[in-house]
Amino acid sequence: MQVAIDHAARHRQHVAVLFLDLDRFKHINDTLGHPIGDKLLKQVSQRLLANVRRTDTVSRRGGDEFVVLLSEVERLEVVTELAESLITILAAPYRIDQHELHLTVSIGISVYPEDADDPENLIKDADIAMYHAKESGRNNFRFFTADMNRKAQERLFLEDSLRRALDAGELSLLYQPQINLRTRTIVGAEALLRWYHPRQGFIPPGRFIPVAEDCGLIMAIGEWVLMEACRQAQAWREAGLPAIRMAVNFSPIQFRQQRVVGSIRHALDATGLAPELLELELTERVVMRNAESAAGRLRKLKDLGVRLAIDDFGTGYSSLSYLKQFPVDNLKIDQHFVRDIRTDPNDAAIASAIISMGHSLRLGIIAEGVEDQDALRFLAEQHCDDVQGNFLSKPVTGEQLAGMLRGDGAG
Ligand code: C2E
Ligand code: MG
Ligand code: MG
Repeated sequence: MQVAIDHAARHRQHVAVLFLDLDRFKHINDTLGHPIGDKLLKQVSQRLLANVRRTDTVSRRGGDEFVVLLSEVERLEVVTELAESLITILAAPYRIDQHELHLTVSIGISVYPEDADDPENLIKDADIAMYHAKESGRNNFRFFTADMNRKAQERLFLEDSLRRALDAGELSLLYQPQINLRTRTIVGAEALLRWYHPRQGFIPPGRFIPVAEDCGLIMAIGEWVLMEACRQAQAWREAGLPAIRMAVNFSPIQFRQQRVVGSIRHALDATGLAPELLELELTERVVMRNAESAAGRLRKLKDLGVRLAIDDFGTGYSSLSYLKQFPVDNLKIDQHFVRDIRTDPNDAAIASAIISMGHSLRLGIIAEGVEDQDALRFLAEQHCDDVQGNFLSKPVTGEQLAGMLRGDGAG
C-alpha cells in the first residue's frame, strides 16, 4: 500500500482500497461446517483475482474479510465500476461438493488522497464505509465520507463514556405517570433512562441505547434499570402509597438472552416487589420477529407473574393470530398515531381500530405521547384505558411521583 501511495503521489493519481466482507458467512460455517466454508473462501479469492487488473492486489485480512488495493487509478468511476462488477461476480452461485451456495458481499471504499494518506487510515476508513454498506441492507458498496467518520467517532466516544457511566453513577431513571381515563388516577409509571454526561450534559436514550445494544453494554445497563425501577416501586409501596405498576423498557438484546428470566427474578427477590406490579415493555418488532420462539420466551417471562406490554404498537408488522396467543396484558399505541390524532383522520382511525381490536382480545390499551386536550378527549371517547404523555405529566423523579400519588401537590 505504501508503495502504491508513493507512486500515486508522484503521478497525481488515486489509490482505492476496497474492504469486502461476505454477508452472513458465519451462517454457512455454522450450518455446513468449516471445510465447506474454507472451500468457499478459496473460490471467492479466485473470483477476486480473476477480476482485477494485474497491478492490483488482493488480500485476505482474516475471517471473511478481503481487501482489494487498486493502484494507479486515474478516474474514480473505475472504482465504482469495479465495485459493482465484484458484487455481481461474487453473487453467482458457488458449487462446492454437492452444494450450490449463494453469497452476497458488502464493500466499503476509501480513496487516497481524498480520505487519508497512509495505509492504516485508508483501511480504517474503508472498514467504516463497509459497516455502513452492511447497515443499509448488505449486498452493496459505500464510499467513505467525512460524515461517516464523525458518526464512527461519536460511537466510540459514547461507548467509552458509557462504560464508565454506570459505575460513575451518571445514569438515573425518571418516571412518567400512566393515568386511567375512567378512574382519573395514576395506575402506573414508565421508567425512562436518563444519562447526564459530566461534560456533554444530557444525552437522550435514542442516541446511546443503540450504541449500548451494539457493544453489549445494554445487558449491564438493563439489569441496573430493572433493579433500580423495582427498588423505587417497592419504596413507594413501603411509604404506604397506592400500588401502581412499574413499566420497564426491554431491549431486544435482553429479550434474546437466556439469563433474562433469572435477572428479573433476582430483581424481584432482592427488592421484594410483587411481580404483578412489574410490567415489561417489548416492542412489536421484537415480539413479531420469530413469533414462534418469542411465544415460548414470553410464556417464561409471564410465568414469573409479571405483566407484559407491547410498546410502539402499530409501527411493526403484527400478526393478529399471534397477538391472540401471546400472554400479553397491554398494548401501547405508538405515539406517532397519538400525536396527530386530531389533525390526521388516518391516525385517528388507526388509533381507534387498535383500541377496539385490543379490547376484543381482552387487552388493555395505553396511549402514549398525549400532548393536548383534544387527543385526550378523543381517546376517552374511544374508551382507551390508560394515557401517558407530556400533557398529563412529563417524566418526573421518583420523589415527585410519590408526591403525585400522595396528592399533596408536590408533583
Ligand atoms: P418509549 O418506550 O416509546 O418511551 C416513550 C418516549 O416518549 C419517552 O422518550 C418519553 O419521554 C416520550 N414521551 C412521553 N410523552 C410524550 C409526549 O407527550 N410527547 C412527546 N413528544 N414525547 C413523549 P425517551 O425517554 O426519550 O425514551 C425514548 C426511547 O428510549 C423509549 O421509547 C425507549 O424505547 C428507550 N428507552 C428509554 N429508557 C429505556 C431503558 O431503560 N431501557 C431500554 N432498553 N430502552 C429505554
Ligand atoms: Mg416504552
Ligand atoms: Mg413507546
